[in-house]
Amino acid sequence: MKTDLLITNICLPGNQGEDPLVADCCIAVGEDMIQQIGPATDFKNIEAAAVLDGRNQLAMPGLINTHCHGAMTLFRGLADDLELVRWLNDYIFPAEAANVSEDMVYWCTKLAAAEMIMSGTTTVADGYFFEHDAARAFADAGMRAVAAQGVIDFPAPGVPDPADNIIAAEEFINHWQNQNPLITPAVFAHSPYTCSNATLQRAKKLARDTNVSLFIHVAESKAEPDMIGNMQGTSPVKHLDALGILDPATVCVHCVWTDEEDLDILAARGAKAVVCPQSHLKLASGISPLASMLAKGIQVGLGTDGAASNNGLDMFREMDICAKVQKIKSLDPVAVPAADIMQAATVGGAEVIGMQGKTGALKAGMQADIILINLDTPHLQPMHGIDLLVYAADGRDVQTVLINGKLIMLERKLLSFDLPETMQHVRRLADTIKRHG
Ligand SMILES: [Zn+2]
Repeated sequence: MKTDLLITNICLPGNQGEDPLVADCCIAVGEDMIQQIGPATDFKNIEAAAVLDGRNQLAMPGLINTHCHGAMTLFRGLADDLELVRWLNDYIFPAEAANVSEDMVYWCTKLAAAEMIMSGTTTVADGYFFEHDAARAFADAGMRAVAAQGVIDFPAPGVPDPADNIIAAEEFINHWQNQNPLITPAVFAHSPYTCSNATLQRAKKLARDTNVSLFIHVAESKAEPDMIGNMQGTSPVKHLDALGILDPATVCVHCVWTDEEDLDILAARGAKAVVCPQSHLKLASGISPLASMLAKGIQVGLGTDGAASNNGLDMFREMDICAKVQKIKSLDPVAVPAADIMQAATVGGAEVIGMQGKTGALKAGMQADIILINLDTPHLQPMHGIDLLVYAADGRDVQTVLINGKLIMLERKLLSFDLPETMQHVRRLADTIKRHG
């Protein structure tokens, strides 16, 4: 068999109940796909154009960050220690109104891509304004992304008249659909309290007509159910259901303030959910009912949200915190085991964003989105079980990253673009904020 890249001497995660690691394995990557994966003894007559020695490393699927606003890296640390409504109204919305431009979105999203790639995330679901420039940044960084154009009923960056918000989303989808193998377009309706009923229905109709996902923030803060209750006389989830927009291609982000009835509706409609535990903790929004979501069979992904409310984009840290807050919420150490968290960050996350069968697992025939973790380090020794990756690993343990079959990072060196140049642009943009702030 001819292959473009053969990864040798690599460890793979073992099946449950067996040894945690299977040593001495190989992965053959041809073009953008995993051609073959398994014990080295099964690899015979391989003609490889390049060989990568994976000694002392573990291969796992690249992580999937199912909710992020990459460009918000510019606002990292700009306004900490504030509750959500004040944080948004007094700091983030004014900072966005003054600073968000095509240039800002491109460079700050590229910085986010670097941070995510360097901590093992190979696919992200991103939503923002000027999303065209975010999509360009991800494509140039060599990162897989579902890029969702923001829709909101206020004047927004790039869409000064809200009457044009659906048209802008439609143009975005038309431009990016089948344009680049790394980029999948989508629609991102900001929330039930910033979008009218008509806007929500038009956004969902556009998503249905063009066969893309609709993302929406739902029930993030305690204030939201009260707000929607006053405006619509029902809960945020029931409101969206009454509008007919919950289906398997709708991704409800946060779902912190949801009750059993809301979760039953999400499960019945096949709608997806995303939890962003560190952002929920930092803004004191609450803790998502993840255990109930999983028990009801809702497909849940894990997200970092934007860097302004986290303040990092490392999915390993997100997995660790997610598992632990679920245990303290229920005062039950058995709640939401590490394997469920890992599932949400990989194969489950792929399903949430409509990429099942494409990424999120290491199997022949899947896209080659692979990360290699350095095991030759004190905090990952000894490895009694693969759960250690959730509870002890962090993004800096990721040595090498392949996305869509391409080497994007090798031994912690980013190969796909000039990171110092990107950081220089972000510092230039950050200086402007200080001057005008
Ligand atoms: Zn968000």
